[in-house]
Amino acid sequence: MSDWHTSTLTQLAAGLRARKFSSAELVRAYLQRIDASQAALNAFISVTREQALSDAAVADRALAAGAAGALTGVPIAHKDIFCTQGVRTTCGSRMLDNFVSPYDATVVAKLKGAGAVMLGKTNMDEFAMGSSSETSFYGPVRNPWNPQLVPGGSSGGSAAAVAARLVPAATATDTGGSIRQPAALCGITGLKPTYGRVSRFGMIAFASSLDQGGVLTATAADAALVLREMAGFDANDSTSVDTPVPDYVAALERPLAGLKVGLLKEFFDEGLDAHNERRIREALKVYEGLGAKLSEVSLPNLPLSVPVYYVVAPAECSSNLARYDGVRFGYRCEKPRDLADLYRRSRGEGFGAEVKRRIMTGTYVLSAGYYDAYYLKAQRVRQLINEDFRRAFGSVDVLMGPTTPTPAFAIGAKTSDPITMYLNDIYTIGANLAGLPAVSIPCGFVQQLPVGLQIVGPHFSEARLLSAAHAFQRVTDWHTRVPPGYA
Ligand code: GLN
Repeated sequence: MSDWHTSTLTQLAAGLRARKFSSAELVRAYLQRIDASQAALNAFISVTREQALSDAAVADRALAAGAAGALTGVPIAHKDIFCTQGVRTTCGSRMLDNFVSPYDATVVAKLKGAGAVMLGKTNMDEFAMGSSSETSFYGPVRNPWNPQLVPGGSSGGSAAAVAARLVPAATATDTGGSIRQPAALCGITGLKPTYGRVSRFGMIAFASSLDQGGVLTATAADAALVLREMAGFDANDSTSVDTPVPDYVAALERPLAGLKVGLLKEFFDEGLDAHNERRIREALKVYEGLGAKLSEVSLPNLPLSVPVYYVVAPAECSSNLARYDGVRFGYRCEKPRDLADLYRRSRGEGFGAEVKRRIMTGTYVLSAGYYDAYYLKAQRVRQLINEDFRRAFGSVDVLMGPTTPTPAFAIGAKTSDPITMYLNDIYTIGANLAGLPAVSIPCGFVQQLPVGLQIVGPHFSEARLLSAAHAFQRVTDWHTRVPPGYA
């Protein structure tokens, strides 16, 4: 069977269970695709070939014995922000270039427990700070739709890998849009769950009150299958929420008729590219055809989400990244003169420019003289944004709008201007500030580049979001498009 790579994860899982092919065959075929694409895309930081082949053999024995889990034998990749026991976990940084994790992140352990076979660790912006996957110590990731363009970020390696069908699913994290934005720019499905739905244990911290693990797949049905396995309470994460995990797969076919959809007025602003907007409006028409009831809603404080985020996220990152001191683990400078020199040079040489910019901003907004003016104020506005969303969900079931203002942009186009780069996440950050689940699904093309539709729901409405996304994917085929050269 030569068309494995165009099968969905759901089909692969069923095919494995029906013993149509083995996990070993599947893993070998995908490893070959990863090798063949690495020079062009740079989607992976590590490929765990030996481990994958031996895990596949174990999976095949379980399948033969009829003792398979939901994902037994299915190949996946993890963003290199998730700790993997015995495997290098770099977070895209020189700081962790030599770091081999002594334990598995909960997400990694859960997916392993469900039988998934890890093929490797994907490339990403350094410490997940970025929107283009260009800040990686390991070089930029390229967009499989056009290698001159960025795949989005920070989970660009995971997104490029799924879009190019190097793997049927990859984990990712979203602090301000890093699952949805690369999903949109690469033409795949990206799900950012409710804050607290997926454990952050072993997920290297960037901004702890915003970080949430999720998944990138070709389809919403695949995302439902993976989320069902990766979600759930974890005593090791104090913000993990102890509420039962619904069967997202069983909920997929829930009828859409009567769904109340709010169109976010603030998202259809002058920053939205006119071609992108056309694709979004067409997608909304499809939803109308499916029986959704559309109305406009306004979240007046939402335009403040970017400035609020760029106070809160750097503040939390400056605290989280204080642990990289050259003493305990990670990069240590050569021949330090004394302790101060060890700290200064280890951090100075270990971190890249964007990470340093965030640490400096964060330290500044938390400093005694500026705490009230910046940090406290940002927290207050964050609360207002929360309330805006809560009010909106009083009258609609979900909110829809674009995921990004434009399709993928050129590598290098925004690296010299951080503000322009930050504005990429203007439509995604709100959901992080309010802890809401959101999904991005492919909804068309602008000049051969994919465009993403974003759906945001109330807390713990993942089943609703996924069924709404699935309903769209039943009547459209954007999610089946594979970049030329990878078909
Ligand atoms: N692009 C945003 C940032 O640079 C969000 C990144 C993310 O979600 N990890 O911080």
